[in-house]
Amino acid sequence: MDDMQDAIDRTGDAGEGASLWQKALAVSGAAALGLLAGFGAGILFPGGGRPVISRELPEPRSDALPEIMTSARTGAEAPLVVIDPGHGGFDPGASGEDGEREKDIVLALAIEVRDRLIELGGVRVALTRDGDRFLPLEQRPQLAEALGADAFISIHADSAPAPEAKGANVYVLSARASDREAQALARIENESASGIGLPEGADDVALILADLMKRETALGSAALSRALERESQGRMPVHQPFRRSANFVVLRSPEMASVLFEAGYLTNPDDANRLGDKARRGAVAQALANAILTHLLAPETP
Ligand SMILES: [Zn+2]
Repeated sequence: MDDMQDAIDRTGDAGEGASLWQKALAVSGAAALGLLAGFGAGILFPGGGRPVISRELPEPRSDALPEIMTSARTGAEAPLVVIDPGHGGFDPGASGEDGEREKDIVLALAIEVRDRLIELGGVRVALTRDGDRFLPLEQRPQLAEALGADAFISIHADSAPAPEAKGANVYVLSARASDREAQALARIENESASGIGLPEGADDVALILADLMKRETALGSAALSRALERESQGRMPVHQPFRRSANFVVLRSPEMASVLFEAGYLTNPDDANRLGDKARRGAVAQALANAILTHLLAPETP
């Protein structure tokens, strides 16, 4: 965990006034650490006039970053949202009783949101994955950071212990979960893809989170979750409370507003049918696209 904390701290430091290259290097360092935890050997090298502790890492490969898509009338400086369809590859996520798989549903939904945003114009969009492939949890927000994203939305459709639980929810990062169900979900999500159990409640984790949450990004994440709440009402069944919080690995970026959107529970037959149907899923895609546009182009005034 020390390595990850180091990586997170390093990423945060580089974000303030550092060049894009330094930022990308720090981010790729964090990404590689996520993959190679335990192999990091500290070295020192000068970066921007002050010593920066880093690892022996290859330079970031620009061809490894997701493609940014935009419409012809959208400027190159338009805000960027990165949409992260959960799971993928050997990790199917939750499944419904008719064989619906979370990894497929959330990918289809993410592509539909991207296409609507490009049609509407005004923002740039990238997906962490646009095919059926596995991505480690830690790498998902790091790819978004490397692209300089303004907002990050991870999309899921998980399972609930009670089959009657249904409807959409949105989560923001918190060291302490808002409720027991949120805590259980974060534990499942955090373990499902990386295969490593996180020391939940451990002091270092709590400290990292406390540090991250002091930052402005926490306010941005909360504002984005409210935009999603407004746009979801009336367009889809919503689970109450709609806005919740828990300790999700994918939401730990100090650099961008980050939320995890649960489109519904595949353990509920109504939700599974609704999300498996392209036309009915369209209402969810529209709500997400509207919320992203509102948040990035006409943010709430405090
Ligand atoms: Zn999931």
